Amino acid sequence: MSGKVTKVSGPLVVATGLSDANVSDVVRVGEQRLIGEILNMTGDSASIQVYEETSGLGPGVSVETTGSPLSVELGPGMLDGIYDGIQRPLQEIRELMGHTISRDVSIPALNRKKLWEFVPTAQAGDKLISGDIIGTVQETTAILHKIMVPPGISGTVVSIQAGSYTVEDTVCLLKDDKGENHKLSLMQKWPVRINRPYGKKFVPDKPLSSGQRVIDTLFPLAKGGTAAVPGPFGSGKTVVQHQLAKWSDVDVVVYIGCGERGNEMTDVLMEFPELRDPKSGEPLMKRTVLIANTSDMPVAAREASIYTGITIAEYFRDMGYDVAVIADSTSRWAEALREMSGRLEEMPGEEGYPAYLASRLAQFYERAGVVECLGADKRRGSLTAIGAVSPPGGDTSEPVSQATMRIVKVFWGLDSSLAYARHFPAINWLNSYSLYIDSLKPWYDNEMGPQFMKNRDRTMELLQEEANLQEIVRLVGQDTLSDADKLTLETARMLREDFLQQNAFVDIDSYSSYDRQAQLLQIILDYDLLCRSAMEQGVELPRLLDIPVRARIGRAKGVPDEEYAKVYADISEEMKQQINEISEEGGEL
Ligand code: ADP
Repeated sequence: MSGKVTKVSGPLVVATGLSDANVSDVVRVGEQRLIGEILNMTGDSASIQVYEETSGLGPGVSVETTGSPLSVELGPGMLDGIYDGIQRPLQEIRELMGHTISRDVSIPALNRKKLWEFVPTAQAGDKLISGDIIGTVQETTAILHKIMVPPGISGTVVSIQAGSYTVEDTVCLLKDDKGENHKLSLMQKWPVRINRPYGKKFVPDKPLSSGQRVIDTLFPLAKGGTAAVPGPFGSGKTVVQHQLAKWSDVDVVVYIGCGERGNEMTDVLMEFPELRDPKSGEPLMKRTVLIANTSDMPVAAREASIYTGITIAEYFRDMGYDVAVIADSTSRWAEALREMSGRLEEMPGEEGYPAYLASRLAQFYERAGVVECLGADKRRGSLTAIGAVSPPGGDTSEPVSQATMRIVKVFWGLDSSLAYARHFPAINWLNSYSLYIDSLKPWYDNEMGPQFMKNRDRTMELLQEEANLQEIVRLVGQDTLSDADKLTLETARMLREDFLQQNAFVDIDSYSSYDRQAQLLQIILDYDLLCRSAMEQGVELPRLLDIPVRARIGRAKGVPDEEYAKVYADISEEMKQQINEISEEGGEL
């Protein structure tokens, strides 16, 4: 079916004569067959958002419907790849046409020529349901790609063969109840705006280990949870996200770059392929799918990129993997939404954003979760969603930050004053939070012992007290503080400098295991306790602050991983001895 363009306004094209079309259908516009998607319909007239540059289009140009919604191709070949917002493979396009993506390139998302070694795990005669795994492909050294029966299909295996196949070849024939044959290949398609189905959802009860002390100890994220990282320019959003992409104990990472600023996206494009998985030494890209929108790409593609990314993530989740989606930044995505809404002449809400901003954001984060995947084996997978928010001027009272904060369960608030003071990661411990503490507590209690959460609570308490005391000092000066309060200030300083500060660029410090975090924190809190009981016995605070072991505590972060257990035990012993000695002297005096 084809219609005619009546109006072009940037990425928005209006066309008539499309009475058969549906909202969300993909259309092809003009001779160049530009890709567009129908946003809404009135009668036979459709408003279409076009994912490519529309200059040169005008009234009268023909529009063809394809009858299907915006979809992604899912199968081997996505990892290690860089896609744009509508899943066009950027590397292959570059090889073909150089650096500027011209219009009318139609290279499929998954390479049609590449052969994959398929190893069946099902056999003829097996009765399979949607989600069942029929075999595997070693996609990269890091990931075994599970080939699944697509949603909505079930039946008995008629034939299945091992061998080298392209993504389009039939590897398995399935006969359903009605006697109809289904040809299964290594590839499936899925509409990006529709959640991929699963069995059921569980409450997330395992933490996502990030190796970042302020995150893992104070504000943990659960696997299958949601988090936002808001922060002004220069506060360290990119570093936090890179650290998460690098160190998170997930199987697959989907990184969606929504075109922060033009050159910044190219940074990611240059930098990511260079990064190595610190644990395996393999390039990080072997477990990563990168979705990139440079700022020279049309805004509409940016809007779509979030959905493209999360659909790919759901697909890996369906295999039973732990997946993280990192979206940088949802503010740029919301701006794209605002621009399209403006062109559609919709009634603007707060600050010009459409009234459905909050519900669209919620739809994105709702796709996170720990799920029982489709399939008879009831395997579990998780999808964790992390979004950066870049509020203009760092003011989180603006609509995107506010709407995000109402949805996500973890909030790592980056602070420009901390970044300015070179306290990194500049996550403000006073306004950040994690609502997973209760559901994760059993895990921490079991795996790390009950002291872990107690120490966490004590740390939060000391940092909060520090803020209150600082307020008093500002008003009436240091002299009014008791020695106990002065010790609180000192301990809090140690917590900040010796524990929370973590340098992403120093190899030894970049990642910290749970055990290492727990032991380091224990030393600082023990110091606090020992000093308090010495003071009760009459020892003067200044002597306790001066003990030589303090310098060792300050350097404890930098001890190599192989040695920390011994060194920390040593420090702990030395600290007890030194405080004991002073206490005994104090007692004799
Ligand atoms: P944003 O993305 O918010 O604009 P960046 O992530 O680029 O900010 O961080 C700005 C600078 O802050 C970095 O170039 C780096 O020098 C410093 N920085 C941020 N986080 C850390 C960290 N964890 N360790 C060391 N330096 C950091």
